[in-house]
Amino acid sequence: MTARKFGSPGLYIQGPGELNHVKEHLASMGDSFLVIASPRRVKDLGAQLAESFGEGYKIVFAQFGGESSRKEIARLTQQAEKEACGCIIGMGGGKVIDTAKAVANQLGTPCVIIPTIAASDAATTRCACIYNEDGSEDGEDSFDKNPDIVLVDSQIIANAPVRFLLAGMGDAMAKIVCATTCYEGYRNNELGGQATELGYAIAKLSYELLLEHGQAAKYACEQHVVTKDLEKIIETNILLAGIGCEVNGGTTDHGFYTGFCELKNRKEVLLHGEYVTFSTLATLVLQGAPKAQMDEMYSFCAAVGLPVCLADVKLDYMDEADFETVAKCVVDLPPTKNHPFHVTVEEAIAAMKTADQIGKLYKEGKKLF
Ligand SMILES: [Zn+2]
Repeated sequence: MTARKFGSPGLYIQGPGELNHVKEHLASMGDSFLVIASPRRVKDLGAQLAESFGEGYKIVFAQFGGESSRKEIARLTQQAEKEACGCIIGMGGGKVIDTAKAVANQLGTPCVIIPTIAASDAATTRCACIYNEDGSEDGEDSFDKNPDIVLVDSQIIANAPVRFLLAGMGDAMAKIVCATTCYEGYRNNELGGQATELGYAIAKLSYELLLEHGQAAKYACEQHVVTKDLEKIIETNILLAGIGCEVNGGTTDHGFYTGFCELKNRKEVLLHGEYVTFSTLATLVLQGAPKAQMDEMYSFCAAVGLPVCLADVKLDYMDEADFETVAKCVVDLPPTKNHPFHVTVEEAIAAMKTADQIGKLYKEGKKLF
């Protein structure tokens, strides 16, 4: 029997103004830090971070070049070595975070993540999406452990455009769909073990929190204020979604998204979580999910303003060849095999086209009867 496996970040801290308590939270991580952040984040938050460390700490800011590519990871690894930094901090969005995790892994140093948006679960996971210099995907790297500390300043998340929070909600929503399939089918999770009861409970909890507090959290974020609803959704997007994904296993919830990234003719590149939302809805169709579940998810997405159809993710231009490109990618991805049925190219295309039609219904304020 395969062993049950569960993993999570070493420590998770979340609250408004917590960036002012960095010294206290990171005391166990040493006294020399390489902070990877975009030039804009260094300008906005660099002084606050350095001030909150105070005297006696070596803080080196390394400006992120914009892509979590092998070249960028090598460059920043070299810089951390040259500066003899004992801990890597990634402060920013998904690509900064993934780069920081990869650099820390190369060096074998502790890793601290300070997410500035809640657009995905990147902050807490033990993997990184690697891109080529031109922005195309170059696969995913997995590491031996999750980040040591994830420090979230809720006010910083609230200050960011609401679109990021919504995308994170879409990324989080995917977890219940893939987790249920993997848990019920005794499939292996991303750690190579079986899901634990705690792991599956986390996926269920994240979905409950989304339905209960997602819409109210959106309004708080629009006003750039921190409320209890927003705190619950920040935790859902960052902590629960990150754990919920790795410790249960994936299916096609991210598969259609990966397929969309294969399209060379996209006029606009949207956020990860926005594509994942439609990818999850297409997965429901692929599974022949109960109408109540479909209605709940489509209604939620339409209510908060998450994508429900191909036009919402700027993919309504797709022709038959494009559908086939995406579907072939979906069929070939290893997590697709976690479905209890064989997925064909034709079925994957049918799922996308049908999910799109159902989405249009909800856009018109109608619903599945
Ligand atoms: Zn994701």
